[in-house]
Amino acid sequence: MSNVQKVLFCCGSRPELIKICPLYHKLKTIPTITPLLCNTGQHKDLLDPHFTSLNIEPDYCLNVMRKGQSLDQLMALLFEQLPDLFDQASPHMVIIQGDTATALASAIIAHKKNIPLVHIEAGLRTYDISSPFPEEIYRQNITKLAKWHFCPTEKSRQNLLRENIPAENIFMTGNTSVDMVIKMAQKLKEYPHPLSEQKNRPYFLITLHRRESQGAPLQEIIHSLIEFSKSKAEFDFIIPLHPNPATSDMIRHLCSDQKNIKLISPLPYPDFVQLMAKSYAIITDSGGIQEEAPSLNIPVIVVRNNTERYEGVENGCLRLAGTEKKTILYELNLLFMTKIIIKECNRHAIHSGTVSQQTG
Ligand code: UDP
Repeated sequence: MSNVQKVLFCCGSRPELIKICPLYHKLKTIPTITPLLCNTGQHKDLLDPHFTSLNIEPDYCLNVMRKGQSLDQLMALLFEQLPDLFDQASPHMVIIQGDTATALASAIIAHKKNIPLVHIEAGLRTYDISSPFPEEIYRQNITKLAKWHFCPTEKSRQNLLRENIPAENIFMTGNTSVDMVIKMAQKLKEYPHPLSEQKNRPYFLITLHRRESQGAPLQEIIHSLIEFSKSKAEFDFIIPLHPNPATSDMIRHLCSDQKNIKLISPLPYPDFVQLMAKSYAIITDSGGIQEEAPSLNIPVIVVRNNTERYEGVENGCLRLAGTEKKTILYELNLLFMTKIIIKECNRHAIHSGTVSQQTG
């Protein structure tokens, strides 16, 4: 009988794939473990281009994405297709990441089939089940099903302890997206600038995709960006558009007349890290970018009412701006003034020969 253990990673979205990469590649180097990867196809268009740039290949591909599908239809297709896949792969362990429909459905099927489950990025919480929606609901339930919980921070570990998860099942592993972005940042010189026209022109980088922001909050966020971009003609505002039409159609419609707002397609991960690293600041509702940007020393304005990554707020790397025009513009102007002050202080320190510890 073979003593090789099969470990099945299940993912379906861009951030899941990026964040499982370090562990997947590490397990590949261990002769007694065979890591297997299932791509459920939850965000097929967004995910597929990343396999090449991340040097990873799925062993199994499901087909759960339908145009315009609801969350319920997505979940139904996951429950239809995942059980057979688990039977075919017959893993000794299942590993999931984060808080997607793929992660929750895989967790439930693993539990039903009595396969031990590892959860990466365990313990993130807002304790508001409507924000982020549905992610907060999914991750609270995944915690109930997982055997081992890999926590990125002490705060997330404390959340799980408060929820009566046994301490011996919780591991403080750090954040795999930070591992990824640091590794990628070391290689940035090997890559040309993804947008050559931005080489000599400063820019804000913007990503928006949260489901709970769709509609009126998103409209308010975009109006703030338009107003701010009008007052800062020397900057560009670059938005890689999320394919979800509920977001991208509104952005296209509202931003079409503003010349320094530039809408582009989603970028492969190395290009996106490069774009983040060279930006003046990032404006986002993304979860992963709140983790990555501080490692690149780029300030982030979070256009949400709460965050499960509160460590960044406490450290001053993230500013929680809400979704109202008044608060977003306040935070953008504050950031702008702070950066000018820091730049001036550094200029004077260099001029007078004092070594400055401050950064932009
Ligand atoms: N990302 C990327 N290309 C892009 C935009 C984002 O590779 O054009 C990466 C980004 O670096 C981060 C992840 O996608 O690792 C974030 O994904 P998203 O914001 O869609 O999801 P969330 O983190 O909010 O779950």
